[in-house]
Amino acid sequence: MGENPDTRTPLVVVLSGPGGAGKGTIARALVEGDDRLALSRSWTSRERRIDDVADAYVFVDRATFEERRDEGGFLEWNEFLGCFYGTPTPDIDDPRDLLLEIDVAGGRQVLERLPDALCLFVDAPDDEELVSRLVGRGDSVEQAEARVREAKRERGEAEQLGYLRVINDDLDEAVARITNLIGEHRRLNG
Ligand code: ADP
Ligand code: 5GP
Repeated sequence: MGENPDTRTPLVVVLSGPGGAGKGTIARALVEGDDRLALSRSWTSRERRIDDVADAYVFVDRATFEERRDEGGFLEWNEFLGCFYGTPTPDIDDPRDLLLEIDVAGGRQVLERLPDALCLFVDAPDDEELVSRLVGRGDSVEQAEARVREAKRERGEAEQLGYLRVINDDLDEAVARITNLIGEHRRLNG
């Protein structure tokens, strides 16, 4: 059955998971391989880090964030470690499906507004591998262990919300699996 690209409603795909699981790496590969998928650029009130890619976020101060939030300018938002993060309300003129890389609390809000969203929880094969990736990326062992504890909590919340879990062991396999899940979701909901 062919879909009419002029009338279909864009789908939202949510990628959540522990820091270090590989969400950013996977998100980049997904949008590079799919012209119909756009990566949403979040706003944040946190300071820019030296390892942030140039277009990682729209960096704003707290007052600017709160102003947009109070005008209803975010699809979802959350406060994490004292900083605001939010997904700008999608541009209705953009026909592409939208990929959000956000935490599970944000995923919950997306599901409340868009129950058809596809929610995926990207995870490392085990905690040891998660710590090794985080330390490899520059975290201290203490920071990495704190993230592992947070990951355990988020895993439970994601399961309750009906997220599908994707283990990022071999990167290419994880990208292929998610590409298939998005394709299947488009066939069912597009
Ligand atoms: P996240 O966005 O979830 O915090 P990143 O995409 O920044 O995670 O990945 C964390 C680190 O793990 C990076 O150094 C990345 O290159 C590495 N990485 C990602 N996927 C894999 C994988 N399948 N196997 C090994 N290392 C990986
Ligand atoms: P970081 O500061 O490491 O870039 O991101 C911290 C956390 O905020 C990560 O779990 C990331 O997925 C989440 N995050 C990034 N952007 C958003 C957003 O727009 N909304 C929500 N709810 N979480 C976000």
